[in-house]
Amino acid sequence: MERYYSYSRFLKETFGEKVYKISIDGGFTCPNRDGTLSEGGCIFCSEGGSGDYAESSRLSVSGQIARGKGQSSKKYSGGRYIAYFQAFTNTYGPVDRLRALYEEAIAPEEIAAIAIGTRPDCLPAPVLDLLEEINRIKPVFLEMGLQTCHDSTAAFLNRGYRTEVFTQAAEACAARGIRTTAHLILGLPGESPEMLAETIRYVNALPVGGVKLSMLHILKNTRLADIYAQEPFPLFTPESYISCVISCIEMLRPDIVIERMTGDGPRDLLIAPTWSLHKRNVLNSIHQEMKRRDSFQGKQWQVHPAAGSMITEK
Ligand code: SF4
Repeated sequence: MERYYSYSRFLKETFGEKVYKISIDGGFTCPNRDGTLSEGGCIFCSEGGSGDYAESSRLSVSGQIARGKGQSSKKYSGGRYIAYFQAFTNTYGPVDRLRALYEEAIAPEEIAAIAIGTRPDCLPAPVLDLLEEINRIKPVFLEMGLQTCHDSTAAFLNRGYRTEVFTQAAEACAARGIRTTAHLILGLPGESPEMLAETIRYVNALPVGGVKLSMLHILKNTRLADIYAQEPFPLFTPESYISCVISCIEMLRPDIVIERMTGDGPRDLLIAPTWSLHKRNVLNSIHQEMKRRDSFQGKQWQVHPAAGSMITEK
């Protein structure tokens, strides 16, 4: 019995087979790093703009796709791929440049869809028009970093936008038929279990198609690493993370695809928690514990009438 709506099930339902993601670096930066909003970026963000697995932007998009295909051939025998613009903010640029990159990415026959990682405050109407147009040719999956619905925590993270901006972006994308995924971080400093539950209820109230759940990672050369070195704060143990992520899954709306439920911190950058590098073990433990608890996605799900009030937090 599948106890949650897995990404592999979603891919099979959407494409009839498992498809493999190729991470691409489109040579973007981020308004939270280039001085437009700030220069520091989100305090947890690595120097690679959270795209540390992406191919090198020195190669063209088609060059990166070709290389990604070659590298995936050891572990993936299928023939279709998702081109994933992962590093930095991949809708941050002139529309003509975005168009050229996206069109190059969807051109190969074997590319089934494109995934685009971005910020909700980098989706002006002309960019949404372009995404809608591309989405009519091949599916566009837009991924946006939310992390938390609490503006107070977001200010600590230097996220650089208020949660109502995320609400508006998710709704604008849904109105145009563009599927969105929200990235959430579990275990943020200062957040109680109830605050995390409020974030899940906030997401449940939005027209999003997927979530990516992760524990907080401390990565080298980040502001968070400095804060942690000066004043260490508690991080998840494997047991406490497994319990927390299962609680989130139980609260999550059943039609939301869980695209990730462990961390994805690069080995050479990860300071803590290092146990999260054993992804297969963590996943197996989550599955075993869900079975032991007879847990499943949506077990505690209710439509929360006050969910919208989260966006008015001062
Ligand atoms: S928005 Fe993304 S790329 Fe920009 S600083 Fe935050 S995590 Fe990094």
